[in-house]
Amino acid sequence: MDNPCERLAAGSVGNPCETLVPEVTNKPCETLVPELAKTPCETPSMKMPDKSCGVPNPNATSDRRNFLKKTLCAFASLFVPNLVAASEALKNAPVWILAGGYKPYEHYWGMGIDINKCIGCGRCVDACKTENNVPREPYYFRTWVERYRVRADGDVTVDSPNGAINSFDNPPPDTDVIRSFFVPKLCNHCDNPPCVQVCPVGATYQSPDGVVLVDSDYCIGCRYCIQACPYGARFLDPVTRTAQKCTFCYHRITKGLQPACVEVCPTQARVFGEVKKKASPLQRFLRMNKIGILKPSLNTEPKVYYANLDVEVN
Ligand code: SF4
Ligand code: SF4
Repeated sequence: MDNPCERLAAGSVGNPCETLVPEVTNKPCETLVPELAKTPCETPSMKMPDKSCGVPNPNATSDRRNFLKKTLCAFASLFVPNLVAASEALKNAPVWILAGGYKPYEHYWGMGIDINKCIGCGRCVDACKTENNVPREPYYFRTWVERYRVRADGDVTVDSPNGAINSFDNPPPDTDVIRSFFVPKLCNHCDNPPCVQVCPVGATYQSPDGVVLVDSDYCIGCRYCIQACPYGARFLDPVTRTAQKCTFCYHRITKGLQPACVEVCPTQARVFGEVKKKASPLQRFLRMNKIGILKPSLNTEPKVYYANLDVEVN
């Protein structure tokens, strides 16, 4: 299935929209609130985060970059024969060096989430909205938390009131419930992301450090990526009319900071770090826990890793 809300209603929850309008099953999330989706910029004073988080969008700039490279290489080859080899090396040199010295190709980011540690407080949801100027309406989330309640007969119910931004109410006593737990969700920054594959203008792309980003300057708001994401992780921003989602707080991690959701979590249920560097906290998390990912059969290769994940969760 390729529609997040459709899957939600089918029981494989990927977005809190389900708990809000469960009867709507065949429309993308933003169409649940058409009046909001169609509303032009209502909050012009709202300062949105960096459109592309400062990372060059390879799809948007490759022509100009390639032209400059080729010109330089041709010039060097003509007048300085000894530099032919150097010009060849320049052709293949990485160009990803951002202001402040951050080098994306030296990193490969991911996140770990320990289900047993999450208490469903929702501070991560609130911090994310504040940090990234995500609209406060209960239809837009870069991260949200779901509560799973498993009954003895195998039945599983899932809820996420307003993404759990105000935590959860205590449910009525139910002796049939044998287990209840919380699952924070966000963009999985897939290594094989269907959202990138379907974008017709190259506005959604992967940074060399493994983070999937959206260049709002190029996004035309066609919603293909929203439909393609099997995790319901994207939404159409009602102000910019462009696709939005978690960026791992790219504006923070490129300065050596943690994503906002990780920083505020009172139980350290979220762990952010390098996927491939052995000394990183995330690598330790991956080594020390039995790890699961969401919807592994889809071969999207998520980089959000869950510890103590129940098989019921997808
Ligand atoms: Fe794209 Fe969805 Fe994967 Fe994020 S979780 S990279 S939005 S397919
Ligand atoms: Fe769970 Fe931490 Fe988010 Fe609270 S802040 S809901 S404990 S992940």
